[in-house]
Amino acid sequence: MSKIILTGDRPTGRLHVGHYVGSLRRRVELQNSGEYDKIYIMIADAQALTDNADNPEKVRENIIEVALDYLACGIDPEKSTILIQSQIPELTELTFYYMNLVTVSRLQRNPTVKSEIKMRNFEASIPVGFFTYPISQAADITAFQATTVPAGEDQMPMLEQTKEIVHKFNTVYGEALTEPNILLPENEACLRLPGIDGKAKMSKSLGNCIYLAEEPDEVKKKVMSMYTDPDHIKITDPGKLEGNTVFIYLDAFSKPEHFERYLPEYANLQELKDHYTRGGLGDVKVKKFLNNVLQEELEPIRNRRHEYEKDIAYVYNILKKGSEEAEKVAAQTLTAVKDAMKINYFEDSELIAKHIAKYQK
Ligand code: ATP
Ligand code: MG
Repeated sequence: MSKIILTGDRPTGRLHVGHYVGSLRRRVELQNSGEYDKIYIMIADAQALTDNADNPEKVRENIIEVALDYLACGIDPEKSTILIQSQIPELTELTFYYMNLVTVSRLQRNPTVKSEIKMRNFEASIPVGFFTYPISQAADITAFQATTVPAGEDQMPMLEQTKEIVHKFNTVYGEALTEPNILLPENEACLRLPGIDGKAKMSKSLGNCIYLAEEPDEVKKKVMSMYTDPDHIKITDPGKLEGNTVFIYLDAFSKPEHFERYLPEYANLQELKDHYTRGGLGDVKVKKFLNNVLQEELEPIRNRRHEYEKDIAYVYNILKKGSEEAEKVAAQTLTAVKDAMKINYFEDSELIAKHIAKYQK
């Protein structure tokens, strides 16, 4: 069986370091591993519109930003197909048919949708499109017959929902769809990187992000303002690691060689953590170290981005070509789906012959 990746992001803002550790870094590794037959990376503009209906300009402006961030991180359009969701009408059509396979109560139980509804204060008036976006996500994944979806932990309920739809479809109509699996980050800190404010998730919509394209002094300012242990007041106080954003980021980003370069008095992260919990290590020193680590990781990304920014027309062309290529694949799946559901009347000569016979006197 072919190994196919589908993954993507909503163009609701520039991409941040949470996207990077949760999904983007892995995608580039998988792309370069050569182990996958096809990789589709989708800019989910139609999904972004489900909770930004009154602000289409925001979505429109951010498509190019997300594309630039992809290229900056090392997504190579020769190896991966980058597509824009709204340009593939087959995805909407698949969504419509899958809607019949999902109940309202099942959608209401989706924990990610639940928490996102709360976060957006949608409780009283949830747009139908937003409520049903897990179904459209199932359409995106299955349209490309994806086997693997590299994503952060918040996407687990979406993958569960997709698997249920695939199972139901294949049982009711016959095997036409491939069941996908989520590929989570191996490093626990990367499953759901918290925001710089210590909130559970760094998210474009919460404004607690360090963006990939951020300039060095802005990154430094954000790192120095990060949430740590509120009870760690004097340097001599023992510090807590749990919920301490700075240490979570070090778990996600630091490598042994960073200690050699920037903090040689510690052999590794464990030694630094031990000192912090014992007491005697100030937040500022740890934050300065994290700043060095992040600057090193982000510099090549920022530089590559600046190169692509010089040729925006070329980037739009990548998106256009990718969307065209993706549409051909989605169209094949849609045909298979409609064949399985028997809504292929004009191709079904038996059906026509049967009805001719029925009315032949
Ligand atoms: P929005 O607030 O508009 O939903 P977002 O920041 O949550 O934006 P998405 O585009 O919804 O970003 O998510 C894209 C991908 O990045 C998904 O695979 C998601 O799991 C992953 N991701 C997003 N935020 C984080 C995070 N803080 N830590 C790890 N992975 C993340
Ligand atoms: Mg999100």
